[in-house]
Amino acid sequence: MISFVKLPARLHPAHRETIPSYLSRLAASKGVTAQSLAYDMGVSFKRIINLDEDALSRLSKWGALSAKELHELLSWTGESVGNIRLRLRGENFVSRGLRNPIVRGCPLCLKEDVKSHDGDPAEAMVMRGDWQFREVGLCLHHSHPLVELWVADYPSERYDMGARLNEILPALMAGKLDKQLQAPTAFDRWLDDRLEDARDYTWLAHHDLYAAASFCRILGTELLRLDPQAAANGCGLDMQARARGFEVASKGEPSILAALTTLMQSATGRNQEIKAALGHLFYKNISTASLHL
Ligand SMILES: [Zn+2]
Repeated sequence: MISFVKLPARLHPAHRETIPSYLSRLAASKGVTAQSLAYDMGVSFKRIINLDEDALSRLSKWGALSAKELHELLSWTGESVGNIRLRLRGENFVSRGLRNPIVRGCPLCLKEDVKSHDGDPAEAMVMRGDWQFREVGLCLHHSHPLVELWVADYPSERYDMGARLNEILPALMAGKLDKQLQAPTAFDRWLDDRLEDARDYTWLAHHDLYAAASFCRILGTELLRLDPQAAANGCGLDMQARARGFEVASKGEPSILAALTTLMQSATGRNQEIKAALGHLFYKNISTASLHL
């Protein structure tokens, strides 16, 4: 009688997963650390998180990734374009908009990953690429705000996802990272659609995502100053600011011009401050030379 050895199933990348997350899960599935797996592959951990071409080709081989899967992982990780720019989901970002010592995520997503898996939790917990963008404030799947998971200055520590997730696992599973749920705003849905498949039916479709999302927050922050009562209720200030800015900016130039005129008229003595906050993005991305700030 022929007996068959049961081979472990191939580890598939999850939706929106990043390269460091996949590497950590692949390592956990083999019962080793990410550094050990990299060593076995013949590359350093650092070269993988730096997305070195040879290192990625080895990771592909070890994970039996298709070209499409590797491309998808890279698109959610963000690849360097020059010194200070990154490309994520086909959009250009200023590096600091994506790379930050503070790593955030949705605790409910991570808990769900753990509960839906029988083995090592580190094999199941997926770090999603959209969590990196600082203007993403909410997980749309759970309506849960993104929370700080860990802070690490050095990329080699920050992107050792399995090790960091194991450190926070007891607090995560005990619900200590959970926050109050928040209803998604139109801004949250718009941003998620743009990242998912570049869908955008608003005027902002003509502009870079990074600039457009930052502009919404800055404009909204200024508008909320005029409405302290609205600013005082409910969800976080940044979330409200983005929603308020989006409400105006998504409708296009006449709407933005009207809002800016109101701001200029109401903020005596603060015009220069407002101009400084909005001017760069405004002049760079929105052609409104007619507005004399
Ligand atoms: Zn979630």
